[in-house]
Amino acid sequence: MNAQDTASVYNGSTAKNTIKFKEIRSICPEKNSDFIVILDPAHGYDVPGKRSPDARFQEWKWSREIIRLISDRFDSLGISYALDNDSDAEIGLKNRVRNTNKISQDYHYNRAIFISVHANASGMGTEWLNAGGFSIYTSRGHTPADVYAGIIYDEFKKTFPELKTREDYSDGDTDFEANFRVLLCRVAAVLIGTMFQDNREDVEIMLSEEFKTRYAEMITNAVIAIISLGVP
Ligand SMILES: [Zn+2]
Repeated sequence: MNAQDTASVYNGSTAKNTIKFKEIRSICPEKNSDFIVILDPAHGYDVPGKRSPDARFQEWKWSREIIRLISDRFDSLGISYALDNDSDAEIGLKNRVRNTNKISQDYHYNRAIFISVHANASGMGTEWLNAGGFSIYTSRGHTPADVYAGIIYDEFKKTFPELKTREDYSDGDTDFEANFRVLLCRVAAVLIGTMFQDNREDVEIMLSEEFKTRYAEMITNAVIAIISLGVP
């Protein structure tokens, strides 16, 4: 068995750092609306790197904190959502895609959005570097995900006018295009490269409780706008 494909590679020593999700929401929730948001926590504690050079920022943990804040808001607003996994360990990209496709089947794929919450990095995580700012990715080509990414980008600009953003205008919009494995699921999918985990200023911002709260609110507001669009 491939260790990347199992969620059972649990290491008890990291348990005190775990972010507990509400289990009922993790996989295959009740179908109580015609739109579902599928949230994808970044990496796992067992993936090397993926942290700031001083290790204060750990991407897997930060991503799960943000997703927990978002899911709390979705709960209070009655927005249907699921996580493609609720493991602190990496379950493997193939399983993330498989779970997402399974969850969204009932929604006929076009009434779902997949949001992967990451932090960016310009190096290998061993030294502080200069690249910074917010960016968002979709798969190559024009799909509804480009519209959704544009809404999230605009909402970020509106919420954080003081923060830097990065754009790729080569295909006529602001998102970057990359065929990351998770972006090739059957659902309109975006991957957010929030800020840079190897940029000192960005790390300070991402670790602040105020930013986390406002960031979760920002994503929630964007999702409300996306749901109100209907099927593009
Ligand atoms: Zn990442």
